[in-house]
Amino acid sequence: EAVVRFEDVHFAYVPERPILRGISFTVPAGRTVAIVGPSGAGKSTLSRLLFRFYEPQGGRITIDGQDIAGVQQDSLRAAIGMVPQDTVLFNDTIGYNIRYGRWEASEEEVREAARLAQIDRFIAALPEGYDTPVGERGLKLSGGEKQRVAIARTILKGPPILVLDEATSALDSFTEREIQDALDRVSRGRTTLVIAHRLSTVVGADEIIVLDQGRIAERGTHLALLAQG
Ligand code: ADP
Ligand code: ADP
Repeated sequence: EAVVRFEDVHFAYVPERPILRGISFTVPAGRTVAIVGPSGAGKSTLSRLLFRFYEPQGGRITIDGQDIAGVQQDSLRAAIGMVPQDTVLFNDTIGYNIRYGRWEASEEEVREAARLAQIDRFIAALPEGYDTPVGERGLKLSGGEKQRVAIARTILKGPPILVLDEATSALDSFTEREIQDALDRVSRGRTTLVIAHRLSTVVGADEIIVLDQGRIAERGTHLALLAQG
């Protein structure tokens, strides 16, 4: 159970150029809110504020009513799982990469996370370009497969809050569909903030927030936004 709330959040990297100009929304416990908007609209900035890489210059962000300004970054990282756009793999097996940061997880738990993310067939493989044994090549993972490793890692960690930075824009539509399914599975029942580039990938979100020029230009369900044009 975690409720994430942005309350009249203001932010600028440089004073002359406000990026967020009074952003308010709530992600209810277990629900999914998607943030969409053109490149540069401030979508990723919202997630950076949530992890306290930066502090809001006005308003506040709360988790379960507690202002995150008083919460250690480590605690935020433990509570919030991030599925990034680009995943850097460590120099070890895919299984190790999934287990990374949750060393106490059992083999079965790692396998189950891999299965949910549809990456289980690669669990023992070494990624290409790493210290593979002489004579072996290592596996070249596609962008989509790398992202599924990140999804499996997040499933295994099991944080109550998720931030998904969608990478699906660069993938072909079949891979996009598969990633979307995996993301839907990992976000089910968790409080989820999706950073999306296109409306078409966030059909299932409980609320979609459209950012434009630092403000919320529109908000509603996918159907309602489509109806508005
Ligand atoms: P989005 O995720 O919607 O594409 P971002 O939140 O990444 O947008 O960025 C919003 C705006 O802030 C962009 O115009 C970007 O150039 C600017 N910006 C991002 N990071 C910095 C930074 N560290 N310093 C100055 N400007 C930044
Ligand atoms: P994408 O279009 O998502 O970037 P790729 O074209 O990179 O995907 O890869 C498609 C599939 O082929 C993946 O399953 C990937 O693991 C496999 N693959 C690509 N290149 C190689 C390679 N050199 N050796 C082994 N498998 C490869």
